[in-house]
Amino acid sequence: MRCPKCQNTMREVDFEGLTIERCECCKGLWFDLHECKKLIAIKGSEIIDAGSPSVGEEHNKLGVYDCPKCLHRMSQMVDHQQPHIWYEQCPGCGGVYLDAGEFSDLKDVTVMDMLKGWFAKPRMS
Ligand SMILES: [Zn+2]
Ligand SMILES: [Zn+2]
Repeated sequence: MRCPKCQNTMREVDFEGLTIERCECCKGLWFDLHECKKLIAIKGSEIIDAGSPSVGEEHNKLGVYDCPKCLHRMSQMVDHQQPHIWYEQCPGCGGVYLDAGEFSDLKDVTVMDMLKGWFAKPRMS
């Protein structure tokens, strides 16, 4: 699979029986539907987010992307709890792409997320 942001190869990473994909170059993370939510709830899972948040921030500003799995145009999303976190979600397969550093950042409010559920809405442009 190719990284939707930098077109480099994404490699499978296993964690606690779940498989996600991580870009070899920019370290962006790809989660299939529900995997992101599951992984956030697992203790220690932030180690999969091995990239540098500064690279992630750079990528956060760039344009539109197509889903690497089903080729739908991905929607820009903003996290309900932490509006500074922007990510991409595919309306076709439900896959989620997070830039480097965003997964760790999302995880910072895990307890609150678990209490209030996982809310996301489309980013207003
Ligand atoms: Zn990449
Ligand atoms: Zn898709």
